[in-house]
Amino acid sequence: GKPRVVVVGGGAGGATAARYIAKGSKGAIDVTLIEPTRKYYTCFFSNLYLGGFKEIEDIGHTYGGLAAGGVNVVHDWAVGVDRDARTVSLAGGGSLPYDKLILSPGIDFVEGAVEGWGLSAQNAMPHAYKAGSQSELLKAQLMAMPEGGTFAMVAPPNPYRCPPGPYERVSMVAHFLKQNNPTAKIIVADPKPKFSKMALFQEGWANHYEGMIDWIGDDFGGGNVSVDPNEMTVSIDGEVTKVDVCNVIPAMKAGRIAELAGVTDGNWAPVNASDMSTKADADIYVLGDASSQGDMPKSGFSANSQAKVCANAVRGALTGSKVFPAKFSNTCWSLIAPDDGVKVGATYEATPEKIAKVDGFISQTGESSDLRKATYEESEGWYTGITTDMLG
Ligand code: FAD
Repeated sequence: GKPRVVVVGGGAGGATAARYIAKGSKGAIDVTLIEPTRKYYTCFFSNLYLGGFKEIEDIGHTYGGLAAGGVNVVHDWAVGVDRDARTVSLAGGGSLPYDKLILSPGIDFVEGAVEGWGLSAQNAMPHAYKAGSQSELLKAQLMAMPEGGTFAMVAPPNPYRCPPGPYERVSMVAHFLKQNNPTAKIIVADPKPKFSKMALFQEGWANHYEGMIDWIGDDFGGGNVSVDPNEMTVSIDGEVTKVDVCNVIPAMKAGRIAELAGVTDGNWAPVNASDMSTKADADIYVLGDASSQGDMPKSGFSANSQAKVCANAVRGALTGSKVFPAKFSNTCWSLIAPDDGVKVGATYEATPEKIAKVDGFISQTGESSDLRKATYEESEGWYTGITTDMLG
């Protein structure tokens, strides 16, 4: 029969890989995508939803386009991988055979990373770092804040999904509060001494949200932050603060199925840069956030870029089609305030050791408002482009 590819996870990495393999092989390869949700809510632009620039349905996408593109979409959870038998087992009871298996499960949280917080506390203190109901919950809590209340964020340690994500979120929360609750305060407890696009965010916070944001970042370490979801308190270096909203973004690791497949180093899945195959198993590939690949940040743009390299290599391996040298790119845009967009990005190549950065660029402080507006508009075009590229 035809060669079989199974893809686990219909996000930025998995959906793109499934679509490109199905499309590129014109039916010569059987492609099955396993994804539990009927609708994928993008984390990208979920901060803009918090800020009031998007509606929740603007960031929700169905899988009909992928199915129409020849991908067999199975709505279920992958719960195990038998590497000898080359099968993936499903929560619903079935099992799927594969010749090549692509895992792009995104992230899970490291248990016990923030003292006092666990998944059972995610309703009291949402992470909103997987989009959808968590984003809606955080927004509802933001809207319900009392006048002059306090919004707290516990930021994650490196490496994590979307390096500028927490800081774009702070900006969008500040924008919302400036409009609706101008005496409210934001405190950020950050285990890192610095963060992505820091000078740009700090300039923007001073320009747009003077006096509202207290970023407490240094080397105090995640261990010195704890939360109490019942009391709604945050303790930073022993100082306890009562807050109205607490957005806890814990330390991350690869989505659990990568661990179950035995292809992680305990946290992330080390991969070969040329094709995203894992160091542990040449027939299992890991894309996106779950992979440990070198210099690329964990972003949707990166996952999409890695997926195309992987799709090309997998097609080559299964059908003998031409394989091009691996090239990757990434750009992360962030919105700081209306029409005030900034970006950071780079191009990359595969070396024997890792995905290695070739060239990069970043927005500058003090840029004109016209340029910042153009940067924001560019991000809108990117959003339409990537969601179409992923899902058809
Ligand atoms: P995901 O897109 O998370 O997809 C993983 C999928 O796997 C999910 O749909 C999940 O349901 C499924 N899955 C997991 N386990 C299983 C299983 N066992 N069986 C079946 N399916 C499973 N990136 C950008 O490029 N630009 C941005 O502006 C940007 N902004 C962001 C803002 C925020 C607030 C956040 C949190 C992230 C942002 N990102 C951004 C990062 C981006 O969302 C991720 O890097 C990207 O989604 C990673 O793609 P992925 O394929 O690795 O994982």
